[in-house]
Amino acid sequence: MRRVAIVGGSLAGLNAADALREHGFRGEITLISAEDELPYDRPPLSKEALLAGVEMEKLRLRAPEWYEENGITTRLGHAAVRLEPARRRVLLDEGTAVEYDGLVVATGSRARRLPSAENAPPVHVLRTVEDGLRLRQELRPGRHLALIGAGFIGLEIAATARQLGLDVTVVEVGRVPLTRALGDEVGAWFRALHGRHGVEIECACTVDTVVRSGSGARLTLSSGRTINADVVVAGVGTTPATDWLDGSGVETTNGVVCHADLSTSVPGVVAAGDIARWYNPLFDEEIRVEHWTNAVEQGRRAAQTLIGHGEAFTAVPYFWTDQYEARMRFVGRAAAASEVAVREWTDDRLVAVYGRDGLVRGAVCVNAPRELARYRAAIRDQVPWGDIAALSSAAGR
Ligand SMILES: Cc1cc2nc3c(=O)[nH]c(=O)nc-3n(C[C@H](O)[C@H](O)[C@H](O)COP(=O)(O)OP(=O)(O)OC[C@H]3O[C@@H](n4cnc5c(N)ncnc54)[C@H](O)[C@@H]3O)c2cc1C
Repeated sequence: MRRVAIVGGSLAGLNAADALREHGFRGEITLISAEDELPYDRPPLSKEALLAGVEMEKLRLRAPEWYEENGITTRLGHAAVRLEPARRRVLLDEGTAVEYDGLVVATGSRARRLPSAENAPPVHVLRTVEDGLRLRQELRPGRHLALIGAGFIGLEIAATARQLGLDVTVVEVGRVPLTRALGDEVGAWFRALHGRHGVEIECACTVDTVVRSGSGARLTLSSGRTINADVVVAGVGTTPATDWLDGSGVETTNGVVCHADLSTSVPGVVAAGDIARWYNPLFDEEIRVEHWTNAVEQGRRAAQTLIGHGEAFTAVPYFWTDQYEARMRFVGRAAAASEVAVREWTDDRLVAVYGRDGLVRGAVCVNAPRELARYRAAIRDQVPWGDIAALSSAAGR
């Protein structure tokens, strides 16, 4: 293999490039990104960078000279618009083509937007550094922020906005925040956390309309209530960026469908990160996860597969979120859990464990790092659900 093209210049793509060099690949590597920036880190965009201001030098995943030192050609500010596997080339929006022998698909996800209406006020989303810069300018003390969606990003923005001195109202369609990701019990803990910090979360409710009102916006909710806000943000999920693969033969269904080693339906094409959907034998299901650590590890594994050292990717998913003083760490899978056991619940700490098919499948630990390590091992070792009492007491020792 002489030439590798990587489409998507972010966490998974960068780690694929790094791993190719680490494993001795000496051919050409071209990293193609729709964004103008060199690969940067997204998690700070809703946390410290939103609080203190965006500084590109702090966000960059590698210094600019790293690319030259490692012989990596970057094509920034150009989106791939089509893949032609028969000719082994990727077409870019500027009309040029990048030829490859091996291809890494790492185009991640895009923030979903609300349907736009005439004369609607701006509704922010937060996915890119540009989004972060735009939103940061609007978060001024004393203003009222309305957040649509109480998922992780929405709640992190709520926490940061409170620290910046804004009033915050969150509107959520579920019974509690985070209900789809973590279930009602853990969602209720997060609702209480935000309540203690003065955030109002209106649940079981949708936003019917958002209209301009003075210099701000007026939201009408399905409950009939109206909310006047200076700033509106939608945190209503993401969509995998697969459109450029249409017609290429790369199978996509809510992401790029991968084999266990992250190879795809087209020879010489692998996928990694937020966009990859693969069969994880540990959980006996096809999953796609939008977690930082997954993008790093899959980028590296997909690169190895491309150069002939592929193995099944069986990592235990790991995710974190920081809101106020709560450092939440999550391991495993909570989706489709049939059992949830709350092992600890105080204002400062939370430990909840998820089970399915008679096995320990996931755990949420807030400010409880020792428990996290123990449950991660239990998930990897497929410990029976009936043994969680023993696990918890061992964690407490
Ligand atoms: C605000 C925010 C906070 C987060 N916080 C956390 C956290 O606390 N913990 C955690 O575990 N995870 C967090 N995440 C998730 C984590 O950042 C993602 O899982 C990770 O960025 C995924 O990396 P990726 O490389 O797969 O995709 P992405 O980061 O989505 O990058 C994909 C790249 O591909 C580019 N691209 C898309 N289409 C094309 C195309 N056709 N041609 C060329 N380029 C294209 C995009 O512009 C983008 O630069 C957060 C994400 C956001 C947005």
